[in-house]
Amino acid sequence: MAPASGELVAVSDLVHVAQTDLVNWVLIAGADGVVLIDAGFPGQRGEVLASLRQLGYHAADVTAILLTHAHIDHLGTAIWFAAEYGTPVYCHADEIGHTQRDHLEQASVAALAMHAWHPRWLTWAVRILGKGALIRAGIPSARVFTEDVGATLPGRPIAIPTPGHTGGHCSYLVDGLLVSGDALVTGHPTSGRRGPQLLPSVFNHDEAACRRSLDALAMLETDVLIPGHGDVWHGPIRELTGRAALAGKT
Ligand SMILES: [Zn+2]
Repeated sequence: MAPASGELVAVSDLVHVAQTDLVNWVLIAGADGVVLIDAGFPGQRGEVLASLRQLGYHAADVTAILLTHAHIDHLGTAIWFAAEYGTPVYCHADEIGHTQRDHLEQASVAALAMHAWHPRWLTWAVRILGKGALIRAGIPSARVFTEDVGATLPGRPIAIPTPGHTGGHCSYLVDGLLVSGDALVTGHPTSGRRGPQLLPSVFNHDEAACRRSLDALAMLETDVLIPGHGDVWHGPIRELTGRAALAGKT
């Protein structure tokens, strides 16, 4: 049976995923606190805090937030953590400007409106508006994630550059598991399919780069995928990226 929305699922001793129907985030449990990878929509703060509580942590115990990219559904509550607790927020060097909101790489309302005839898209749009999808705040204090930073964190996360969905998107390998953000997902409220796939192209900054990033992920040694949207998926990563590459071709 699928877990209730936001209920934590342990993927390894250290790594837990909170899966909601809108977006997922990951908790890496350490002895001295907890690291988040991605942080939900701004309006999901209650769910993020509830997921921390399930492991016995409070907001002040979050020692770092790693972003796969700076779209509002992944960066959302990190704005609050950074402002309220001074929590360090890290992303790939090429995503810093986006995270600080020097620019915004989000699909425009006009582009999304093209899909509004479809009930699935319309339902999703109404729901995310209620979660703060139009908030334009960034995180001015965002820092570049480096190997040295990763070496100090539980699970020793390593960034894997996977540009395409945004210009500076990265995935993370942590404790042998792949946290792929939106470079490779297994579902999305606007998608009728389950299984490895790219997001609909309207969401992607550079579709060709997305496909090249799938090739980069295929080189990794892992058989557990924790995507930014959809279910945790098991299988040789090369097989999953291959399925995603085919899924986009209709
Ligand atoms: Zn995204």
